[in-house]
Amino acid sequence: MAVGTNSHLLAVARQPVAAQQLRNQIRLAFPVTQFDGPITSCDCEECTGIREELRHKRWDEVPVTSLDLTCSPTLLTPEAFNAFLPAYLFRALDDLSRHSVVVEFTVYSLCPNDSHKNGQEAHDW
Ligand SMILES: [Zn+2]
Repeated sequence: MAVGTNSHLLAVARQPVAAQQLRNQIRLAFPVTQFDGPITSCDCEECTGIREELRHKRWDEVPVTSLDLTCSPTLLTPEAFNAFLPAYLFRALDDLSRHSVVVEFTVYSLCPNDSHKNGQEAHDW
């Protein structure tokens, strides 16, 4: 890559090329379609709220506030997890330091363990 002016370097630092490429790859991998399937499988207040927030949405329509509030797609059904994961990945790429909680929990959600069988988390808080 050619080294440009200081302002160019600043711009590159703010929006790394790798992050932009990653965004393009995410867009290619996850079709932007409205999701009408089951969103969460439990009726607690939190899961009900998530369900109302994501109902009939495409992943690129999910409000940023909702992504920041839930931090990760771990409470979603496997179908909804697939449908909305890219929204969390994009949010994580927005600002890796400021949204580090979203980064952290989204990465955790991609690491299966005993409490995440079939993508469904048994939570009891
Ligand atoms: Zn729940």
